[in-house]
Formats: sequence, C-alpha cells, structure tokens
Amino acid sequence: MTETAAVPTAALRARAEIDLGALRANVRTLRARAKGAAVMAVVKSDAYGHGAVPCARAALEAGASWLGTATPDEALALRAAGLPGPMLCWLWVPGGPWRQAIEAGIDVSLSGMWALREVTAAAREAGRVARVQLKADTGLGRNGCQPGADWAELVGEALRAEAGGLLKVTGLWSHFACADEPGHPSITAQLDRFREMVAYAEEQGVRPEVRHIANSPATLTLPETHFDLVRPGIAVYGVSPSPEIGTPADFGLRPVMTLRASLALVKHVPAGHGVSYGHHYVTPGDTTLGLIPVGYADGIPRHASGTGPVLVDGKWRTVAGRVAMDQFVVDLGGDEPPVGTEAVLFGPGDRGEPTAEDWAQASGTIAYEIVTRIGTRVPRVYVNGEELG
Ligand SMILES: *Cc1c(COP(=O)(O)O)cnc(C)c1O
Repeated sequence: MTETAAVPTAALRARAEIDLGALRANVRTLRARAKGAAVMAVVKSDAYGHGAVPCARAALEAGASWLGTATPDEALALRAAGLPGPMLCWLWVPGGPWRQAIEAGIDVSLSGMWALREVTAAAREAGRVARVQLKADTGLGRNGCQPGADWAELVGEALRAEAGGLLKVTGLWSHFACADEPGHPSITAQLDRFREMVAYAEEQGVRPEVRHIANSPATLTLPETHFDLVRPGIAVYGVSPSPEIGTPADFGLRPVMTLRASLALVKHVPAGHGVSYGHHYVTPGDTTLGLIPVGYADGIPRHASGTGPVLVDGKWRTVAGRVAMDQFVVDLGGDEPPVGTEAVLFGPGDRGEPTAEDWAQASGTIAYEIVTRIGTRVPRVYVNGEELG
C-alpha cells in the first residue's frame, strides 16, 4: 500500500481511508458491465464524501471517459485542478456560472426555457459555442423537462440556438426514479418515454453525442438502459445502491472508504452507570467503557444512537446511548484494549468490520448518506494512489 498522506496516521483521532485501487477496480468492473457504453463517473458532493479530485483522477485512469457533478462549481473545481475530458453538470439556478462553464468546456444540462435563455446569452458574451445536454423528465418527477409541449419548445428553441451558432446539443438524457427496485413498473414506463422523447428530438434534427439514463442500479442490473453512456455514482465507491439488488461483492465491487477512529479512553464503571446525554444506556453490570472520538459533526448519524456497530479489538460493539456531536461510547464488556486501539466503524466488511450498509440499517437510512455525510473534520487518507506493479 502506498500512503499518500503526509500525516502520521497512527496519531489521528479519526480518518477515512480511501482505497483508490478499489475505486479503479470498480470502474473497470462497471466498464465491463456497460459493454459498448462509455462510463461517466459521478463525482458530485466531493465524490460522495471520498474526495472529488483524487477520485475523479483515479476514475479516469481506470477508463471512465466522462465526469459528472451536480453543481457547476463542482465541475469548475475539477477543471481548475487540471482534470481533462468531457464533464457534465446538471443542477443550475438562475444566475449560475454559465460563462465560466462554457469557457471551461463543461457540458451544461438544461431542463427548462429559463436555462436555455441564460446559456445562450452567456455563449454570445463568451463568443463560444456552449455544449448543452437536454434533460427529459421521463417520470422521476424531479428535474428535467416535461414531455409534450414543454419538450417540443425546449428542443425547438435549442435547435434554433444551435443553428445560430450559440450552442451544440451534445446529449439527451434522463434519470430513473426506481431503478433500485427490481421489476418496478416505472422502469419500463420511463424507458419507453425516454425512447419517445429522444426519437422526437432526433426527428427534429438533434444529433446528440450521447444518450443516457442509467444510474448505478441500472448500470448493474438493466443492460437495456445503457444506451451510449452510463452514469454510476455509488457503485464507483463500491457500495451497493440497495441491499435489495445485492451486495457489492455480488457485482464484483469493493467498498472504497474505511472509517477508523482511535480509542480515546477506556475506563471501569460500576453497574447502573448512565452513559452519554439523556442516560439512554445504563450499564447492566460492572464493565468497561470505550470512548470513540467521532460524533454527528463528523457525520456519524445521531439516529444510530444505541444501534451503530463498531469493530474494536476484534469484537463488534454497539453505540451505547446517544451519539454526541464529537464522540460516542461503546460498552467493552470488561475488556481493556489499550487507548489508541483502532476502532473500525465501517469498511469493505471482509476483515470483520461493519459496512456502510450496516450503519445505514442501524440508522434508518441508505448507505449513500452514510459515506457522503462523513464530515470535513475527518481527514481523507488515500491509499493505493499509484497503480501497483
Ligand atoms: C447522483 C446521480 C447519479 C448517480 O446515481 P447513483 O445512484 O449514485 O449511481 C446519476 N445521475 C444523476 C442525475 C444523479 O443525480
């Protein structure tokens, strides 16, 4: 393993170890699943908490050909860090940095006429052709242009701007609502609607470079949704989109993030001792308590109070009482591991540790939220940054 961080990791309160070798392997696995389609690695939200720049770089090394972000600022930051190649960002509000995106060669997504007006004005000012992708709402009911008259207007006006030399429509795309629920009737309904909306735009004269709709679950389980490009996010980080469709290992994926903390205190307490705010845990007998120095400010869900799992000294322990802002406690049942012993909150799971999915289940959420919310106070330590061999 190559440790790329300059910090002495043993002394860290907590760290999120990011295995870039696993990330590269995941991207290769996704490429193989996507067969003829290209892969866009979705690196929004700081690469789901894993660190956008190193993860984007590793994804490109492993053969992803596009990068995707939600906000334009995320995409601009990747360009500023020197990341090359096609990039798409899709979450705009009026007054956004259209001109900067155009000048940085970033594809922008349009879901409505207001955005088309802003991007054409920015293209005129910049004297450059904007690369735009038209987003269809095929049934998600979130962002995207409604089918019918709205789509006809957006496509028509985009073609007029294209003829005027202001933009190039590079993509037609959409997003699934329930791709992680096998057999959900909305999947085929959205796919049919997508085909219709693409066909309409192409009949009108749009010549897109890429048509795409597949997120991670669709990339993994629905080959008929792959079109020219797939857009996996969570799968790049080795986490399954849903336990319903399988474990990461079922798809040949390996979790990229391991969250570790150093045991900050071990002490003996008598029976009947309340633990942490509210005293929701009371020691059932004489025991030892271990202090884990991470809390909800670090992204440990407060909803995991009394339920979150941690591997300490080879044994699974459970959060005793409430998760506080900066720390929580585990009942060590009389064991006395030395302070500084490493506690593993989650990781790939094959060294006996819990997984992000275990934390999701313990706190009533999805594994996406567990990894993405790990806070900025937790340093990311990159391992396997270089290709081995
Ligand atoms: C987040 C996101 C993705 C990736 O979704 P995963 O379920 O993480 O694969 C793809 N497309 C869009 C539009 C997104 O917002």
